[in-house]
Amino acid sequence: MNSVPDVAVIGGGPAGLAAALAAEKAGAHAVVIEREKRLGGILKQCIHDGFGLIRFGEKLTGPEYSHRYVEALRKTGAEVRLLTFVANIRRTGRGFGLTLVHRGGIDVLTVGALVLATGCRERTARQAAIHGTHPAGVLTAGTAQYYTNILGQLPARRCVILGSGDIGLIMARRLTLEGAEVLGVYEAKPAPSGLSRNIAQCLDDFGIPLYTNRTVSRVFGRARLEGVEIAATDAAMNPIPGTEERIACDGLILSVGLIPENELAESLGVPIHPATKGPVCDQLCMTAIPGIFSCGNALQVNDLADYVSESGERAGKAAARLALEGGGETSGKDAAPERDAGNYAEFTADGNFLCMTPQRLDLSRLEDETVLYFRSREERENVLVRIYAGETELFRRRYTRLRPPEMERAVLKLRDAGLKAGDTIGLVMSGA
Ligand SMILES: Cc1cc2nc3c(=O)[nH]c(=O)nc-3n(C[C@H](O)[C@H](O)[C@H](O)COP(=O)(O)OP(=O)(O)OC[C@H]3O[C@@H](n4cnc5c(N)ncnc54)[C@H](O)[C@@H]3O)c2cc1C
Repeated sequence: MNSVPDVAVIGGGPAGLAAALAAEKAGAHAVVIEREKRLGGILKQCIHDGFGLIRFGEKLTGPEYSHRYVEALRKTGAEVRLLTFVANIRRTGRGFGLTLVHRGGIDVLTVGALVLATGCRERTARQAAIHGTHPAGVLTAGTAQYYTNILGQLPARRCVILGSGDIGLIMARRLTLEGAEVLGVYEAKPAPSGLSRNIAQCLDDFGIPLYTNRTVSRVFGRARLEGVEIAATDAAMNPIPGTEERIACDGLILSVGLIPENELAESLGVPIHPATKGPVCDQLCMTAIPGIFSCGNALQVNDLADYVSESGERAGKAAARLALEGGGETSGKDAAPERDAGNYAEFTADGNFLCMTPQRLDLSRLEDETVLYFRSREERENVLVRIYAGETELFRRRYTRLRPPEMERAVLKLRDAGLKAGDTIGLVMSGA
């Protein structure tokens, strides 16, 4: 057994792997805690390529991408605990006490800093408000991906996909390649939710139709799905009575959104942002509670694993620095280190933006570059995005096209911007 870890990383997906690697490189001793029996997170089942173009300048599959991090981590002194579930975390005078449940029983581990890299979960049929029975054959796209790619079992022969999220688009192609008939992708909104490249490569290239302003309003079948009812939708995405048609199928695959997994964060009282559904954080991925960091899909749903790794790296490095400085220590059970109080500027955005991360800027820890991610609320063409602090323009870029599914990345140089505590840094969008 290694010495007592400085940083605990919860989750062994691409975010957690990058965080642990960065923490080790920064001189801290890290432990990765993963509930599954292998590292890699969701990438284990993403056997298509397209990962790593930014990080490695190569087109890798999900397992190849995560393998690079697993190998790099193996060369460090990081400890990995598999088949171990973090059931509970509490704040202690020395940092954080984690309750770990594993096959051998229950352990309590105390660490100076925490990185939450717990990923996200998929919305289910219940959350998509579909009426009818509960037959077999209604699956989330991630479950269908697990059946097809890990278990080698075809979950349906003739199916409908509800929602045009990326995992649904990828599964439309995957099921077609495995010989299933994909009747179409049905999207309740007027525009698809997935990346443009996935619409082209997964639907257009395979002749799979995409129907917008349509939803599945009902399912039929007792033991096994026998069909679905499709209806046109109004502006509020509700089915329009009288437009229903019935389609025979044995599979309904749901790709209706991802939600950051933050049960542990919420149990610790970490404030969650209503737009991202992940913790409010600063530019180093530290949440509003000193010593607790968040990264990857737990922080915000990302469209590229490369950005997931980037945020993991940032969180791991900052968590290591804080733990080694003793910054995770608190004077009492619920106390926060004094030095962090009030030294923040805030990011704000006008109504044209759906969300942005980070929301706060820790002025005592400015680096040469600050990375800001944002999404536009609607599809826009030829727009100018500017970022201001008071009258000073910090960033300006013209975009020929912005789409909500595509997260944008802006690099800001804020070290010499003369920012003071309480200042506001504003994102503004206008016609170009
Ligand atoms: C079903 C699904 C399919 C996807 N397919 C694609 C795709 O094809 N292409 C793509 O670019 N992106 C895909 N994504 C997005 C993908 O999630 C990200 O690209 C990336 O994997 C996110 O990395 P992460 O490390 O944040 O989360 P994850 O990869 O989800 O890793 C989180 C890890 O945390 C572990 N964990 C959670 N809670 C605990 C706990 N309490 N104790 C211990 N361990 C815990 C989980 O077991 C998991 O291994 C998919 C997402 C989902 C949900």
